[in-house]
Amino acid sequence: MINRRKFIALSAFSSVVGMLGKKLSAAEPLTAFKKGPIVISTWDAGIEANKGAWKILQAGGRALDAVEAGVMVTEASQNCCVGLGANPDRDGFVTLDACIMDELFNCGSVAFLERIKHPVSVARRVMEKTPHVMLVGTGAQQFAIAEGFPLEEQKLSPDAQKAYDNWLKNSEYKPVINVENQPVRQAGKANHGPSAPSLLESGEWNHDTIGMVAMDAKGNLSGSCTTSGMGFKMRGRLGDSPIIGAGLFVDNEVGACTATGQGEDVIRVAGSHTVIELMRQGLSPEAACKKTIERIVKIKKEKAKDIQVAFLALNKKGEVGAYAIHKGFSYALKAEGIERLVTAKSLFN
Ligand code: ASP
Repeated sequence: MINRRKFIALSAFSSVVGMLGKKLSAAEPLTAFKKGPIVISTWDAGIEANKGAWKILQAGGRALDAVEAGVMVTEASQNCCVGLGANPDRDGFVTLDACIMDELFNCGSVAFLERIKHPVSVARRVMEKTPHVMLVGTGAQQFAIAEGFPLEEQKLSPDAQKAYDNWLKNSEYKPVINVENQPVRQAGKANHGPSAPSLLESGEWNHDTIGMVAMDAKGNLSGSCTTSGMGFKMRGRLGDSPIIGAGLFVDNEVGACTATGQGEDVIRVAGSHTVIELMRQGLSPEAACKKTIERIVKIKKEKAKDIQVAFLALNKKGEVGAYAIHKGFSYALKAEGIERLVTAKSLFN
Protein backbone atom coordinates (compact mmCIF):
# COMPACT_ATOMS: atom_id res chain seq x y z
CA MET A 1 0.00 0.00 0.00
CA ILE A 2 1.22 3.48 -0.68
CA ASN A 3 0.14 6.81 0.66
CA ARG A 4 -1.63 9.42 -1.37
CA ARG A 5 1.36 11.73 -1.80
CA LYS A 6 3.60 8.94 -3.02
CA PHE A 7 0.83 7.78 -5.27
CA ILE A 8 0.42 11.19 -6.89
CA ALA A 9 4.17 11.30 -7.50
CA LEU A 10 3.90 7.98 -9.29
CA SER A 11 0.82 8.86 -11.20
CA ALA A 12 2.33 11.36 -13.63
CA PHE A 13 4.66 8.64 -14.87
CA SER A 14 1.96 6.04 -14.71
CA SER A 15 -0.57 7.94 -16.75
CA VAL A 16 1.94 8.49 -19.53
CA VAL A 17 2.68 4.79 -19.58
CA GLY A 18 -1.04 4.13 -19.33
CA MET A 19 -1.68 6.16 -22.44
CA LEU A 20 0.79 3.95 -24.22
CA GLY A 21 -1.34 1.01 -23.30
CA LYS A 22 0.99 -0.82 -20.93
CA LYS A 23 -0.77 -2.87 -18.31
CA LEU A 24 0.40 -2.68 -14.75
CA SER A 25 1.09 -5.97 -13.12
CA ALA A 26 -0.57 -6.50 -9.77
CA ALA A 27 2.85 -6.44 -8.16
CA GLU A 28 3.17 -2.74 -8.87
CA PRO A 29 1.97 -0.68 -5.97
CA LEU A 30 -0.96 1.29 -7.39
CA THR A 31 -3.48 -0.17 -5.04
CA ALA A 32 -4.40 2.51 -2.53
CA PHE A 33 -6.07 5.87 -2.68
CA LYS A 34 -6.43 7.71 0.56
CA LYS A 35 -9.09 10.11 -0.61
CA GLY A 36 -10.98 11.37 -3.55
CA PRO A 37 -13.23 9.58 -5.97
CA ILE A 38 -12.14 6.35 -7.56
CA VAL A 39 -13.77 3.99 -10.01
CA ILE A 40 -12.70 0.48 -10.98
CA SER A 41 -14.26 -1.91 -13.46
CA THR A 42 -13.65 -5.32 -14.93
CA TRP A 43 -11.68 -6.03 -18.10
CA ASP A 44 -10.12 -3.68 -20.63
CA ALA A 45 -13.51 -2.30 -21.70
CA GLY A 46 -13.53 -0.75 -18.24
CA ILE A 47 -11.21 2.01 -19.49
CA GLU A 48 -13.99 3.56 -21.59
CA ALA A 49 -16.65 2.78 -19.00
CA ASN A 50 -14.62 4.46 -16.26
CA LYS A 51 -14.45 7.62 -18.38
CA GLY A 52 -18.24 7.73 -18.37
CA ALA A 53 -18.30 7.29 -14.61
CA TRP A 54 -15.53 9.80 -14.08
CA LYS A 55 -17.49 12.69 -15.62
CA ILE A 56 -19.91 12.32 -12.72
CA LEU A 57 -17.38 11.62 -9.98
CA GLN A 58 -15.16 14.49 -11.01
CA ALA A 59 -18.07 16.91 -10.84
CA GLY A 60 -18.76 15.83 -7.24
CA GLY A 61 -21.62 13.53 -8.28
CA ARG A 62 -22.91 10.47 -6.56
CA ALA A 63 -21.22 7.08 -6.95
CA LEU A 64 -24.60 5.58 -7.85
CA ASP A 65 -24.98 7.89 -10.85
CA ALA A 66 -21.39 7.20 -11.84
CA VAL A 67 -21.69 3.40 -11.86
CA GLU A 68 -24.86 3.58 -13.92
CA ALA A 69 -23.43 6.01 -16.49
CA GLY A 70 -20.15 4.10 -16.62
CA VAL A 71 -21.48 0.70 -17.60
CA MET A 72 -23.99 2.28 -19.99
CA VAL A 73 -20.99 3.12 -22.16
CA THR A 74 -20.25 -0.59 -22.51
CA GLU A 75 -23.91 -1.55 -22.91
CA ALA A 76 -24.14 0.85 -25.85
CA SER A 77 -21.08 -0.55 -27.58
CA GLN A 78 -21.86 -2.84 -30.48
CA ASN A 79 -18.37 -4.24 -30.37
CA CYS A 80 -18.31 -5.60 -26.90
CA CYS A 81 -19.18 -8.25 -24.51
CA VAL A 82 -22.36 -6.86 -23.00
CA GLY A 83 -25.50 -5.25 -24.32
CA LEU A 84 -27.57 -6.01 -27.38
CA GLY A 85 -24.51 -6.47 -29.63
CA ALA A 86 -23.30 -9.45 -27.61
CA ASN A 87 -23.55 -13.19 -28.20
CA PRO A 88 -27.01 -14.75 -28.00
CA ASP A 89 -28.29 -17.77 -26.10
CA ARG A 90 -28.43 -21.15 -27.82
CA ASP A 91 -31.80 -20.27 -29.37
CA GLY A 92 -30.33 -17.15 -30.97
CA PHE A 93 -31.71 -14.48 -28.62
CA VAL A 94 -29.66 -11.92 -26.71
CA THR A 95 -30.86 -11.88 -23.11
CA LEU A 96 -29.45 -9.34 -20.70
CA ASP A 97 -28.97 -9.27 -16.92
CA ALA A 98 -27.94 -6.32 -14.75
CA CYS A 99 -28.00 -5.01 -11.22
CA ILE A 100 -27.09 -1.91 -9.26
CA MET A 101 -26.62 -1.16 -5.56
CA ASP A 102 -26.11 2.06 -3.60
CA GLU A 103 -24.61 3.07 -0.28
CA LEU A 104 -27.84 2.45 1.64
CA PHE A 105 -28.41 -1.21 0.68
CA ASN A 106 -30.91 -0.12 -1.94
CA CYS A 107 -30.60 -2.46 -4.88
CA GLY A 108 -32.34 -3.33 -8.12
CA SER A 109 -31.93 -6.04 -10.70
CA VAL A 110 -33.27 -7.27 -14.02
CA ALA A 111 -32.66 -10.62 -15.64
CA PHE A 112 -33.53 -12.42 -18.85
CA LEU A 113 -34.39 -9.05 -20.33
CA GLU A 114 -34.68 -8.83 -24.11
CA ARG A 115 -34.59 -5.93 -26.60
CA ILE A 116 -33.75 -3.23 -24.08
CA LYS A 117 -30.49 -1.38 -24.63
CA HIS A 118 -29.69 -0.34 -21.06
CA PRO A 119 -30.59 -3.04 -18.55
CA VAL A 120 -28.61 -1.30 -15.82
CA SER A 121 -30.96 1.69 -16.02
CA VAL A 122 -33.99 -0.58 -15.83
CA ALA A 123 -32.41 -2.19 -12.75
CA ARG A 124 -32.09 1.26 -11.23
CA ARG A 125 -35.76 1.97 -11.91
CA VAL A 126 -36.67 -1.34 -10.26
CA MET A 127 -34.71 -0.16 -7.25
CA GLU A 128 -36.20 3.31 -7.17
CA LYS A 129 -39.73 2.83 -8.42
CA THR A 130 -40.92 -0.59 -7.31
CA PRO A 131 -41.26 -2.38 -3.98
CA HIS A 132 -39.12 -5.19 -5.46
CA VAL A 133 -35.46 -5.91 -5.98
CA MET A 134 -35.63 -8.11 -9.05
CA LEU A 135 -37.76 -8.33 -12.19
CA VAL A 136 -37.22 -10.93 -14.89
CA GLY A 137 -38.20 -11.78 -18.45
CA THR A 138 -41.36 -10.40 -19.96
CA GLY A 139 -42.28 -8.71 -16.68
CA ALA A 140 -38.98 -6.83 -16.67
CA GLN A 141 -39.49 -5.88 -20.31
CA GLN A 142 -43.05 -4.74 -19.66
CA PHE A 143 -41.81 -2.59 -16.78
CA ALA A 144 -39.04 -1.13 -18.94
CA ILE A 145 -41.48 -0.19 -21.69
CA ALA A 146 -43.85 1.38 -19.16
CA GLU A 147 -40.90 3.40 -17.92
CA GLY A 148 -40.27 4.72 -21.43
CA PHE A 149 -37.34 2.54 -22.50
CA PRO A 150 -37.56 1.90 -26.25
CA LEU A 151 -38.06 -1.67 -27.42
CA GLU A 152 -35.18 -2.32 -29.80
CA GLU A 153 -35.29 -4.47 -32.90
CA GLN A 154 -34.74 -8.18 -32.29
CA LYS A 155 -31.67 -8.63 -34.42
CA LEU A 156 -28.20 -9.95 -33.75
CA SER A 157 -25.23 -7.71 -34.44
CA PRO A 158 -23.28 -8.86 -37.53
CA ASP A 159 -20.45 -10.26 -35.37
CA ALA A 160 -22.84 -12.05 -33.05
CA GLN A 161 -24.69 -13.51 -36.04
CA LYS A 162 -21.39 -14.85 -37.42
CA ALA A 163 -20.42 -16.32 -34.07
CA TYR A 164 -23.86 -17.87 -33.66
CA ASP A 165 -23.83 -19.38 -37.15
CA ASN A 166 -20.49 -20.95 -36.36
CA TRP A 167 -21.64 -22.17 -32.98
CA LEU A 168 -24.65 -23.84 -34.57
CA LYS A 169 -22.32 -26.16 -36.51
CA ASN A 170 -21.62 -28.11 -33.30
CA SER A 171 -24.12 -26.55 -30.87
CA GLU A 172 -21.83 -27.43 -28.02
CA TYR A 173 -21.94 -25.41 -24.81
CA LYS A 174 -18.38 -25.44 -23.63
CA PRO A 175 -17.29 -22.35 -21.68
CA VAL A 176 -13.59 -21.69 -21.79
CA ILE A 177 -11.43 -19.60 -19.54
CA ASN A 178 -12.07 -15.86 -19.81
CA VAL A 179 -8.95 -13.86 -20.44
CA GLU A 180 -8.25 -10.40 -21.76
CA ASN A 181 -6.28 -9.37 -24.80
CA GLN A 182 -7.06 -12.41 -26.87
CA PRO A 183 -8.23 -11.93 -30.40
CA VAL A 184 -11.62 -13.48 -30.22
CA ARG A 185 -15.18 -14.05 -31.18
CA GLN A 186 -14.37 -17.51 -32.16
CA ALA A 187 -16.44 -20.11 -33.82
CA GLY A 188 -17.98 -23.05 -32.15
CA LYS A 189 -17.38 -22.21 -28.51
CA ALA A 190 -19.74 -21.05 -25.85
CA ASN A 191 -17.22 -18.46 -24.92
CA HIS A 192 -13.88 -17.55 -26.36
CA GLY A 193 -10.43 -18.34 -25.20
CA PRO A 194 -6.77 -18.64 -25.88
CA SER A 195 -7.03 -22.05 -27.49
CA ALA A 196 -9.52 -20.86 -30.07
CA PRO A 197 -9.35 -23.02 -33.17
CA SER A 198 -10.68 -20.29 -35.43
CA LEU A 199 -10.97 -16.59 -34.97
CA LEU A 200 -13.48 -14.40 -36.73
CA GLU A 201 -12.40 -11.07 -35.44
CA SER A 202 -9.56 -9.61 -33.50
CA GLY A 203 -9.70 -6.98 -30.83
CA GLU A 204 -12.90 -8.24 -29.24
CA TRP A 205 -13.40 -9.60 -25.78
CA ASN A 206 -13.83 -13.17 -24.65
CA HIS A 207 -16.06 -12.42 -21.70
CA ASP A 208 -19.54 -11.09 -21.34
CA THR A 209 -19.73 -8.76 -18.38
CA ILE A 210 -18.73 -5.44 -16.97
CA GLY A 211 -18.80 -4.94 -13.21
CA MET A 212 -17.98 -1.53 -11.76
CA VAL A 213 -17.60 -0.20 -8.23
CA ALA A 214 -16.91 3.39 -7.26
CA MET A 215 -16.35 5.72 -4.33
CA ASP A 216 -17.50 9.32 -4.67
CA ALA A 217 -16.05 12.50 -3.15
CA LYS A 218 -18.20 11.99 -0.07
CA GLY A 219 -16.72 8.54 0.44
CA ASN A 220 -19.93 6.73 -0.49
CA LEU A 221 -19.76 3.47 -2.41
CA SER A 222 -21.97 2.04 -5.15
CA GLY A 223 -21.72 -0.69 -7.77
CA SER A 224 -23.22 -2.00 -10.98
CA CYS A 225 -22.91 -5.14 -13.05
CA THR A 226 -24.31 -5.81 -16.53
CA THR A 227 -23.97 -8.75 -18.87
CA SER A 228 -25.29 -10.75 -21.79
CA GLY A 229 -24.42 -13.83 -19.77
CA MET A 230 -22.38 -16.73 -21.08
CA GLY A 231 -22.67 -16.96 -24.86
CA PHE A 232 -24.85 -19.80 -26.15
CA LYS A 233 -26.22 -20.55 -22.71
CA MET A 234 -29.50 -22.41 -22.31
CA ARG A 235 -32.51 -20.19 -22.82
CA GLY A 236 -33.52 -18.78 -19.44
CA ARG A 237 -30.13 -19.35 -17.81
CA LEU A 238 -29.03 -16.69 -15.32
CA GLY A 239 -25.54 -16.27 -14.03
CA ASP A 240 -24.24 -14.34 -11.07
CA SER A 241 -24.28 -10.88 -12.62
CA PRO A 242 -27.86 -9.81 -11.76
CA ILE A 243 -27.78 -11.50 -8.36
CA ILE A 244 -27.13 -9.19 -5.44
CA GLY A 245 -24.47 -10.82 -3.27
CA ALA A 246 -23.08 -12.88 -6.15
CA GLY A 247 -22.14 -10.61 -9.07
CA LEU A 248 -22.22 -7.47 -6.94
CA PHE A 249 -22.41 -6.38 -3.34
CA VAL A 250 -21.95 -3.03 -1.61
CA ASP A 251 -21.75 -2.38 2.11
CA ASN A 252 -20.94 1.27 2.64
CA GLU A 253 -19.25 0.57 5.98
CA VAL A 254 -16.88 -1.98 4.47
CA GLY A 255 -16.50 -1.91 0.70
CA ALA A 256 -17.86 -2.95 -2.68
CA CYS A 257 -17.14 -5.97 -4.85
CA THR A 258 -18.07 -7.27 -8.28
CA ALA A 259 -17.40 -10.56 -10.04
CA THR A 260 -16.86 -11.91 -13.52
CA GLY A 261 -16.34 -15.35 -15.00
CA GLN A 262 -18.37 -18.50 -14.66
CA GLY A 263 -21.47 -17.25 -12.88
CA GLU A 264 -22.63 -20.61 -11.57
CA ASP A 265 -19.48 -20.85 -9.44
CA VAL A 266 -19.77 -17.29 -8.20
CA ILE A 267 -23.34 -17.97 -7.06
CA ARG A 268 -22.23 -21.15 -5.27
CA VAL A 269 -20.14 -19.14 -2.79
CA ALA A 270 -22.24 -15.93 -2.77
CA GLY A 271 -19.03 -14.50 -4.17
CA SER A 272 -19.20 -10.71 -3.85
CA HIS A 273 -20.88 -10.90 -0.47
CA THR A 274 -18.20 -13.30 0.75
CA VAL A 275 -15.48 -10.87 -0.34
CA ILE A 276 -17.18 -8.06 1.60
CA GLU A 277 -17.50 -10.20 4.73
CA LEU A 278 -13.82 -11.11 4.53
CA MET A 279 -12.92 -7.43 4.21
CA ARG A 280 -15.11 -6.74 7.25
CA GLN A 281 -12.91 -9.18 9.14
CA GLY A 282 -9.90 -7.04 8.22
CA LEU A 283 -8.59 -8.58 5.01
CA SER A 284 -7.37 -6.27 2.28
CA PRO A 285 -9.43 -6.26 -0.94
CA GLU A 286 -6.85 -8.42 -2.69
CA ALA A 287 -6.61 -10.90 0.20
CA ALA A 288 -10.41 -11.12 0.43
CA CYS A 289 -10.74 -11.73 -3.32
CA LYS A 290 -7.98 -14.36 -3.14
CA LYS A 291 -9.59 -16.23 -0.26
CA THR A 292 -12.91 -16.36 -2.09
CA ILE A 293 -11.19 -17.62 -5.24
CA GLU A 294 -9.47 -20.30 -3.13
CA ARG A 295 -12.85 -21.36 -1.78
CA ILE A 296 -14.19 -21.84 -5.32
CA VAL A 297 -11.09 -23.77 -6.35
CA LYS A 298 -11.41 -26.03 -3.29
CA ILE A 299 -15.03 -26.78 -4.15
CA LYS A 300 -14.40 -27.35 -7.84
CA LYS A 301 -11.30 -29.51 -7.28
CA GLU A 302 -9.73 -30.55 -10.60
CA LYS A 303 -12.55 -28.85 -12.55
CA ALA A 304 -11.12 -25.49 -11.41
CA LYS A 305 -8.55 -25.77 -14.17
CA ASP A 306 -11.34 -25.30 -16.72
CA ILE A 307 -13.13 -22.29 -15.27
CA GLN A 308 -12.35 -18.65 -14.76
CA VAL A 309 -13.71 -16.51 -11.95
CA ALA A 310 -12.37 -13.13 -10.89
CA PHE A 311 -13.32 -10.69 -8.16
CA LEU A 312 -12.60 -6.97 -8.03
CA ALA A 313 -13.05 -5.03 -4.79
CA LEU A 314 -12.67 -1.60 -3.26
CA ASN A 315 -12.72 -0.98 0.48
CA LYS A 316 -13.88 2.01 2.47
CA LYS A 317 -10.29 3.26 2.77
CA GLY A 318 -10.06 3.46 -1.01
CA GLU A 319 -7.84 0.40 -1.35
CA VAL A 320 -8.32 -1.71 -4.47
CA GLY A 321 -7.66 -5.39 -5.04
CA ALA A 322 -8.54 -8.24 -7.37
CA TYR A 323 -7.86 -11.93 -7.81
CA ALA A 324 -8.66 -14.53 -10.44
CA ILE A 325 -8.45 -18.29 -10.79
CA HIS A 326 -6.48 -18.04 -14.03
CA LYS A 327 -4.16 -15.43 -15.39
CA GLY A 328 -5.52 -12.96 -17.94
CA PHE A 329 -7.99 -11.01 -15.82
CA SER A 330 -7.52 -7.27 -16.05
CA TYR A 331 -9.33 -4.33 -14.53
CA ALA A 332 -9.43 -0.63 -15.24
CA LEU A 333 -8.86 2.00 -12.58
CA LYS A 334 -9.50 5.71 -12.68
CA ALA A 335 -8.83 8.31 -10.02
CA GLU A 336 -7.59 11.89 -10.05
CA GLY A 337 -4.73 12.10 -12.54
CA ILE A 338 -4.63 8.42 -13.36
CA GLU A 339 -6.18 6.00 -15.79
CA ARG A 340 -4.80 2.48 -15.78
CA LEU A 341 -5.31 -1.11 -16.71
CA VAL A 342 -4.05 -3.53 -14.10
CA THR A 343 -3.44 -7.23 -14.60
CA ALA A 344 -4.72 -9.09 -11.56
CA LYS A 345 -2.89 -11.87 -9.76
CA SER A 346 -4.23 -15.37 -10.15
CA LEU A 347 -3.95 -18.75 -8.46
CA PHE A 348 -2.94 -20.56 -11.65
CA ASN A 349 -0.47 -19.03 -14.04
N1 ASP B 1 -20.49 -13.84 -14.98
C1 ASP B 1 -21.15 -13.84 -16.25
C2 ASP B 1 -22.18 -14.94 -16.27
O1 ASP B 1 -21.96 -15.99 -15.73
C3 ASP B 1 -20.24 -14.00 -17.42
C4 ASP B 1 -18.98 -13.13 -17.45
O2 ASP B 1 -18.54 -12.60 -16.44
O3 ASP B 1 -18.40 -13.00 -18.54
O4 ASP B 1 -23.20 -14.77 -16.91
